[in-house]
This record gives sequence, C-alpha cells and structure tokens, in this order.
Amino acid sequence: MDNPKTTFNLVGAGLAGSLMTVYLAQKGHEVHVFERRPDMRKNTLDGGRSINLALSARGIKALEETGLLEDIMEISIPMYGRIMHGKEGTITHQSYSNDGKSCIYSVSRAELNMRLMTLAESHENVHFQFDVAADDVNLKTGEITLKNLQDGSTFQAPGERTIAADGAFSAVRYAMQKMPRFDFSQDYLAHGYKELTIPAGPNGEFQLDKNALHIWPRGHFMMIALPNMDGSFTCTLFFPFEGPQSFDALNTREEVQAFFEAEFPDAIPLMPTLLDDYFENPTSSLVTIRCYPWILADKIALLGDASHAIVPFFGQGMNAAFEDCTVMAACVDQGNDDWKAIFEDYQKQRKVHADAIANMALENFIEMRDKTADEDFLFRKKVEHVIGRNIDAYKSRYELVSFSTIPYADAYRQGERNMEILAELMENLDHPDDVDIERAKHMIVEQ
Ligand SMILES: Cc1cc2nc3c(=O)[nH]c(=O)nc-3n(C[C@H](O)[C@H](O)[C@H](O)COP(=O)(O)OP(=O)(O)OC[C@H]3O[C@@H](n4cnc5c(N)ncnc54)[C@H](O)[C@@H]3O)c2cc1C
Repeated sequence: MDNPKTTFNLVGAGLAGSLMTVYLAQKGHEVHVFERRPDMRKNTLDGGRSINLALSARGIKALEETGLLEDIMEISIPMYGRIMHGKEGTITHQSYSNDGKSCIYSVSRAELNMRLMTLAESHENVHFQFDVAADDVNLKTGEITLKNLQDGSTFQAPGERTIAADGAFSAVRYAMQKMPRFDFSQDYLAHGYKELTIPAGPNGEFQLDKNALHIWPRGHFMMIALPNMDGSFTCTLFFPFEGPQSFDALNTREEVQAFFEAEFPDAIPLMPTLLDDYFENPTSSLVTIRCYPWILADKIALLGDASHAIVPFFGQGMNAAFEDCTVMAACVDQGNDDWKAIFEDYQKQRKVHADAIANMALENFIEMRDKTADEDFLFRKKVEHVIGRNIDAYKSRYELVSFSTIPYADAYRQGERNMEILAELMENLDHPDDVDIERAKHMIVEQ
C-alpha cells in the first residue's frame, strides 16, 4: 500500500457503504462501520419479501474491481430487453441493444447487500456495529456522534474521517445542511410505489419470460416486474398518490380487484396474493435529492443516495452509488494522503454526473410509463435499432448509460444529439428499414 493508513467511520452499511468499506479495507485502511438497522444477515427484513434491483455496467465494474462479480453473477438473472404488456393483451418486445446481446441483471437487493457486508467483514481491519445510528455532526471538527439504539447511549465515532452512505434521508447530510452556503433540494414525485408479487408457478417455474424487464405502461401510471432466482417476479406499481386513478382512490379489496382486472388483465391471474400484498405492503414515495457541497473539509464525504437520491426509472441509483465508490477509490489512490484534495477531487468529478443521471431518471419515467405504448416512440426506437445495426459508432442513450461507463453527463449530451439526428432522418420516413444509412453515417461522424 502506497498511502499511510487512515481510520474511517463508514456510516450506513447499505449497498454503497458496504462496497466502499470493501474498497477502503482492500487498500489497508481501518474502517468502523455503523449501521442503524440490525444485522440483516440475522434478521428477515421486509417480512421476507424479495426486492430486486437492476445491475448494469457501472455497478458491474465496481463489483469486478472488488472481486465480487463472480459471486453476484451466480444470483443474477440477465434481462435482454423490455417486454411491454398492452391493455388488450398485446405483447411487444424491445431489445436493449441492436444485437440483442447486451443485458442488465436482476439481483436481490438483500442478497447483494449481505454478500457485500460479508466480504467487507472478511477483512480484519473492518469492524461492524449494528443498531447504531449517526445522530449529530460537529461541523467545526467533523466529529460524528453516534447513538446506540438498544440502550440509548451516545458516543463519538473513533475514525479520523467519515464517509456517510446513510441513504436518501442521511442524518450526516442533515447536519451538514446547517453549514453556510449549503445547497439542498428535495423534490417528490406526485407518484408513489408499491411492491407486489407474481409467485413462481406450481413447479417453481417462471410465469413470464424471465430474461426481460416487464412493463405495463398505462400513460399516467405503470407496473413493472423483474425476475427473482426462486421463479417469482417482484412487481412495482408506480401510481399517483391522489386523483381518480390513484392510491387514494383504491380503498377496498373490490376496488383494487376491479382496477387490476381493467388495467392489467394478463397479470392478475398470475397474482394470487394481490389483494393481501396491496393492503399489507407499504406505499412509498419517490424523491430526487440534490445537494452541494458533498464534503466537509478533509473530514466528511457524502456518498450514494446521501449525496444524490434519484428516482428509479433508469435503474441507476445503486449503479451511480457504486460508481461513486469506484471514483472515490481512484481519488484515494491518486491523492497521496492529502484528504482535502482527495475529497474535493471526488465531489468535483461526481457532482455533474449525479445531476445528469438525476435528470435522465426523471425523463425516463415519462418514457417508460407513457411512451413505451406510443406509436411514434416505438417507430423511433425501430429506426434507432436499424441505425445501430448498421453503424457501430451509434449508441442510444440507454446503451451509453447502462452498457458503458462513459460519464453520465456525456451520455446525456449524446442522447440529446441522437434525438436531433433521429428527428432529421425520420422526416417523411414510412418504414424504419428505409432510413438513409449513408446520411446517418455522415451525421454521426460529423457530430
Ligand atoms: C423502488 C426503487 C427501485 C430501485 N431500483 C433500482 C435499480 O433497479 N437499479 C439501481 O441501480 N438502483 C435502484 N434503486 C436505487 C437504489 O435503491 C439506491 O440508489 C441505493 O440503495 C443507494 O444505496 P445507498 O447505500 O446510498 O443507500 P441505502 O441503500 O438506502 O443504504 C443506506 C443505509 O444507511 C443506513 N442508515 C440510514 N440512516 C442511518 C444513520 N443515521 N446511521 C447509520 N446508518 C443509517 C440504512 O439503514 C441503510 O442500510 C431503486 C430505488 C427504489 C426506491
């Protein structure tokens, strides 16, 4: 190890905190991890519900760097595209890439988190404490006060510096918000979400194509489903909180049954526990959180959702949080133990890209719930696939975000340019196969 060892406090043993712990431990640093919840490896959280996430290139890169990828691939299911379920039972396939080979992976959130924690704990320089929450921050010294949630006692975190990965409602960030000139915004969607289940069939079989992300787009709301290793699917209903079709409007079992029969007729026969799931599972909100700075001198750095919570419609929150870890680890490697410079470098490198993916995630919400059922959108996607098949240099924004690690802000800009190119090429075009490839080549090369 080139740099002298540092003792860290790592607040939050969620996905990003556990992964960052692995990175730091592998570099020989001492890490004290404090997690508010009990040890999830000993407790069944969420009443045993499986909740999954889409893992893609940026997350994969981080898992590869830390040596965990092989292990996680064993519990991951590749999804090669979207399958859209129309109201009248129509099914439309949309590959994520032109050759149909690129995929994202469905992985259990809890299993991934537990494996990351176990890998972190396998290093002797890592010490986990559960049922301990960050409570306050001394903004002059950067010292963190922790609270033991079992006996109510408080104590000071021992490390020289802190990485706070305590999620969207970070207590450390909350304390930092009192710093002069700290920018903060929190924007809730008018939609919330609820997790539901399609269980495995009688012989443990998947009841839908397991290698796809399923979407039931319905204009101002939608349902999606991702596969689990046990043959089930976790469905998520994204639905307005208020209005004629909303969580507020569905209050009885009969109302929920009638709504699902009308809107998701092909899914309802596969959802025998729908009504219990609907009334037992929580309705949760969706928020975008932006803030700046992400650091307090050489003492504290915010990481993952604590610094940039985004809505889940690009499947990138965890992937972006893992990319934070990759970037922070590289800054540590290059920083010669100058922690102020290391933290500054990290926030400078990441902020602009966190903002870009936050915007893309909001835009993708409209695409998924609304446009995946829209004729013009589907036509444009087909044109885009024809171009992509013929011109290697052309990559859709989705491909750039999910299948490459080019910075998010660059993917965002390229996506804008793609839209201009497609709009020009689609003028008076009747069939996607008739698109002028030579002209497309010129436009793509010239940009
Ligand atoms: C419905 C939904 C679907 C999603 N789907 C995807 C997806 O498909 N792909 C994707 O990449 N992302 C997805 N995300 C986003 C992803 O869940 C988050 O971006 C990711 O969990 C962020 O990781 P994190 O470690 O920063 O925060 P978290 O996972 O929230 O972890 C924070 C940890 O800190 C702990 N903690 C909180 N407060 C304290 C405290 N005061 N002291 C100590 N510990 C504390 C918490 O208990 C938790 O363990 C989705 C999000 C939602 C809501």
